[in-house]
Amino acid sequence: MKERLEGLRIEALAELEQVQNPQTLNDLRVKYLGKKGALTEILRGMGGLSAEERPIIGQVANDVRAAIEAVIEQKQETFQQEETNNRLRAETIDVTLPGKALPTGSVHPLNKVAQEIEDVFIGLGYSIAEGPEVETDYYNFEALNLPKNHPARDMQDSFYITDDILMRTHTSPVQVRTMKESKGAPIKVICPGKVYRRDDDDATHSFQFNQIEGLVIGRNIRMSDLKGTLLQFVQQMFGEQAQIRLRPSFFPFTEPSAEVDVTCVQCGGNGCRMCKQTGWLEILGCGMVHPRVLEMGGYDPEEVSGFAFGMGVERIALLKYGIDDIRHFYTNDLRFLGQFARM
Ligand SMILES: [Zn+2]
Repeated sequence: MKERLEGLRIEALAELEQVQNPQTLNDLRVKYLGKKGALTEILRGMGGLSAEERPIIGQVANDVRAAIEAVIEQKQETFQQEETNNRLRAETIDVTLPGKALPTGSVHPLNKVAQEIEDVFIGLGYSIAEGPEVETDYYNFEALNLPKNHPARDMQDSFYITDDILMRTHTSPVQVRTMKESKGAPIKVICPGKVYRRDDDDATHSFQFNQIEGLVIGRNIRMSDLKGTLLQFVQQMFGEQAQIRLRPSFFPFTEPSAEVDVTCVQCGGNGCRMCKQTGWLEILGCGMVHPRVLEMGGYDPEEVSGFAFGMGVERIALLKYGIDDIRHFYTNDLRFLGQFARM
C-alpha cells in the first residue's frame, strides 16, 4: 500500500508539472484528491491493515496529500500572477504610440475668402462696419439715390417684408448708416455681409450671397485713389502680375461709375475659354460717391469727396479657386469643402 501511495505521489507530481492552465489544474485536483479521486481509492484499503500499520500508512497518505496540495497551490499562484500580469499588460498605455487622428473641420471657402479680402483692406487701414440684414426701404434704396419708382430699383428684385421693410439687396445701407453716424468725419470702412435678391439659383446666381463693399470719404479723394486701392487689392488677392481695367458703367449711387476687370486668372491675359478670349474677368463695381448720396449722408459734396466699391465674395472665390458653380458653396458636400482645409 505504501508503494501505491508513493507511486501516486510520483505520478501526480509528474502530471502537475505539465499543467498549463487553471482548468487542467482543477481537473487534476479532482482526479487525485477528490471524493472519488485516486488517493481516496487507495485509502479505501486501509480497513485491511493491521493496527500498527494503519498510523504509518496514514502518515504517508497525509504526506502525499500535502505534497500534491502544495504543488497545486503553487501552480495556482503562478496562474494568478500570470493573469494579473496579462491584465496589466493589456491595460498599459504606450505613450509613444501615434495618436488617433480626429476628424477636424475647416473654415468654409467663402469665409476664408471673405477673411482674406478683409485682411487686405485692414492692412490698408480700413475698419469693418456692419449693419442689419433686414433693412428699411430708406437705407437700402432712398438714401442711395434710388427714390421710389426709380427705374434702377428693377435692377434688384427684392424680398419685401412690408412695403417699407425688406431683406437688404446690398451692403450699401451700411455705408449710409456709417455716414450718418460719422457726422461729417472722414470714413474708411469695408462692409461685409449677406445680401438677398430674388434670383433663381444657378451657376452664378443665388438668392442669398455675400458682399463686401468699401467706402472712403475725405478731402481730395480722387478716382486715382480708387484705382490705386483696387490694384493693390487684386494684386494681394491674385498675385503681383494681376492688372485691372476700369470700364464706364452706371450705378445710381456713384458718379462716375465703373466696372472693374482683372487680368484673367486662368490665362494671365492671353485669352481663354474662361475669359471668352478677352483676357479679362469682371470682378467688381465702383465709382465716386454721388453728391446726392454724400448730402443725404450728412456730408457737403463741395467740401469732401469719396469713392465706393462693392464685390461679391462668391465671385472672388470662384475666380481664386477656379470653381465653375457657386452652388458648390452652399450644398455642403464635404468632398468639396475638405479640399480647402489645406489651402
Ligand atoms: Zn483667360
